[in-house]
Amino acid sequence: MTLTHRFAEALPEMCTPWSPECFPDLQVAVFNDALGRRLGIDGERLLAALGDEERNAGHAQAYAGHQFGQFVPLLGDGRALLLGEVEVDGQSYDIHLKGSGPTPFARGGDGQAAIGPMLREYLVSEAMAGLNIPTTRSLAVLTTGKRIQRETVTDGALLVRVARSHLRVGSLQHAALRGEETLRKTLDYAVATLSPGSSYKEFYAGVVESQAALVAKWMRAGFVHGVMNTDNTALSGETIDYGPCAFIDEFDPDACFSSIDRQGRYAFRNQPAILGWNLARLAEAMIPLLSLEDAHEVLGGYASAYRRRWLEEMADAAGLAVTPPVEELLDDLAELLPGTGIDYHRFLRGLAEAEGAGAEGAYPPEVRLWLERWRALGPDTAALSEKNPLIVPRNHLLEEALALAEGGDLSRVDLLARAFANPYAWPSDASEEEIAWLDRPVPPRRVPFVTYCGT
Ligand code: AMP
Ligand code: MG
Repeated sequence: MTLTHRFAEALPEMCTPWSPECFPDLQVAVFNDALGRRLGIDGERLLAALGDEERNAGHAQAYAGHQFGQFVPLLGDGRALLLGEVEVDGQSYDIHLKGSGPTPFARGGDGQAAIGPMLREYLVSEAMAGLNIPTTRSLAVLTTGKRIQRETVTDGALLVRVARSHLRVGSLQHAALRGEETLRKTLDYAVATLSPGSSYKEFYAGVVESQAALVAKWMRAGFVHGVMNTDNTALSGETIDYGPCAFIDEFDPDACFSSIDRQGRYAFRNQPAILGWNLARLAEAMIPLLSLEDAHEVLGGYASAYRRRWLEEMADAAGLAVTPPVEELLDDLAELLPGTGIDYHRFLRGLAEAEGAGAEGAYPPEVRLWLERWRALGPDTAALSEKNPLIVPRNHLLEEALALAEGGDLSRVDLLARAFANPYAWPSDASEEEIAWLDRPVPPRRVPFVTYCGT
């Protein structure tokens, strides 16, 4: 594993040299073999590198961010660091650690991460990759041998994360505060890394387009990020920072799982509008290197770009091409589903199975009518089982797998990791019992599902 330090060399003012804490007993809990092979890293080499003072010298990155609408000029990697970059097939990837100890940006935090949330990020990010949604990837979760205080005392862990780039909207917001020279250098670095040869206007348009495409995929998948602060919006168009995220079961536009989001700012239905808000903050940060006219022109195209992407995604899920009657059909579905209690994922998957007959008998008349209209448009149902997943990272599956893992049993985590790698079919090596566990209906809850940010 040969790491470069391109970011730190180009932008020393945007980071601080930092190394992971010396942990008492680093051990591999889960390792992503497929990703490791692509990167030329295995578990043993990773542990050796992290324990070697010369090879574990990385950098904590500085960034700003609007958190729930409030601007914080300096956040940065409080418990994370960029170990360096690797190059694979001409493409550079960041190797990043999360939970590696407090940095100068820790702001009083302990710099640690708990095993449950790190395994959760590992599983959900790999599930997103399996669904072909751009995302940071997870290479490994390591236990640190350190016990840490959360709601209770729990095992500390470290996530090894891989991304095209960890630059965020908040990175440029911070660079802008440092003055035009740092802004220009940071932008030039972002352009060179993410879209070589682009003008600043083209770069901004590219972020708008890739983020619009990303959030359209989230909406199709029923994914609620939960904390779409500008420091959690990546310039690469990759999903980043899995904290209180979750997938919906029923189609509930108001779904909001984060314990700290009391206003529902980041609820399921708000995500496209919040992205627009974040992209406006990005334009502000880029001025004066982006002209006001260009910012207006590009941002003015966001709503229609998002709409086009959303229609493409949903039409694809329905086995149709985007035409005016299909647009109407898809809009009607989003209106019809809330309150029916219908499981969103089973509904979409059901379109592939017996042309929607799965649970159709139990559907209310207006939904059956919708299915008739859908059929009349001649959908390509043969292709649908490759498009709508059978296995979704549902909260009850994750909760059960993580509770077992916290007790030392990683069997369900391993099963989910295998299942999420190809969510369109049951894993070929899974037992009947395992498939039954994956396929269990969503159990009723006495209290709504919530996730916590104190990860
Ligand atoms: P997040 O909500 O995970 O995106 O994190 C927001 C900010 O808080 C980032 O600057 C993190 O580095 C920082 N942070 C979160 N948890 C901790 C922790 N336990 N110790 C230090 N910094 C943290
Ligand atoms: Mg973050």
